[in-house]
Amino acid sequence: MVVTLLGTGTSSGVPLIGCECEVCRSVDFRDKRLRTSVHLLVDGQSLVIDTGPDFRQQMLRESIKRLDAVLFTHEHKDHTAGLDEIRAYNFLQQRDMPIYGRKSVLNQLQTEFAYIFAEKKYPGIPRLQLHEVTNQPFEVAGIRVTPIEVMHYRLPVYGYRIHDFTYLTDLNYISDAELEKVYGTRILVLDALQQKPHLSHFTLEQAIAVVERVRPERAYFTHMSHTMGLHREVEKRLPPGIRLGYDGLKIVIPDTPA
Ligand SMILES: [Zn+2]
Ligand SMILES: [Zn+2]
Ligand SMILES: [Zn+2]
Repeated sequence: MVVTLLGTGTSSGVPLIGCECEVCRSVDFRDKRLRTSVHLLVDGQSLVIDTGPDFRQQMLRESIKRLDAVLFTHEHKDHTAGLDEIRAYNFLQQRDMPIYGRKSVLNQLQTEFAYIFAEKKYPGIPRLQLHEVTNQPFEVAGIRVTPIEVMHYRLPVYGYRIHDFTYLTDLNYISDAELEKVYGTRILVLDALQQKPHLSHFTLEQAIAVVERVRPERAYFTHMSHTMGLHREVEKRLPPGIRLGYDGLKIVIPDTPA
């Protein structure tokens, strides 16, 4: 499996419009963070988790010419705003795009992208096939996916585990029962917004505490704000096996024999 971090920035991205802090002015490419999303190449299938406002740019940057399905974590705009761009894949593949999300997410997509679901459709708009996710393992393109329910302040969000990889973004709480599903994962990508406390996201310290419970081989943090600090400086202080993610980072996970 190859995991590509498409974006590792919080909802505003980094740099932030109009900000002149040292992170927003940094010339280090790792301090330039598009909105959070990830691409998975797994068992020959091409999947993305979330389609944020930078989706088009991310797919162009990574030359992703085929897409088999989209999984959504939750309905916030920084995770859904790029949905219209799916039409490029409808056109290339000549089929509807399978979309997976919890009921509240599918409902929200139908409200916010009403034209996609209109009775009389304008030609050339995205063609989607909606699939509801509940907190039970399911299959996407023949691949087993385990949802992990976490809390993002009061909003339930799904993280996903696929084989030895777990992706948990936009959360500030995970129950012991849900954390059980993460144990044994080799690679964990986890929300860590900033160092200061926040209402709906893990801080760096809280994210490190979760990693220390799960003990994966490696963990990468994502959904970072400019207030996290310079990539190079923050990384120096992290425990072994934990890194900050950056846009374009590829993680290769060898298949474990079944
Ligand atoms: Zn977000
Ligand atoms: Zn800034
Ligand atoms: Zn969110």
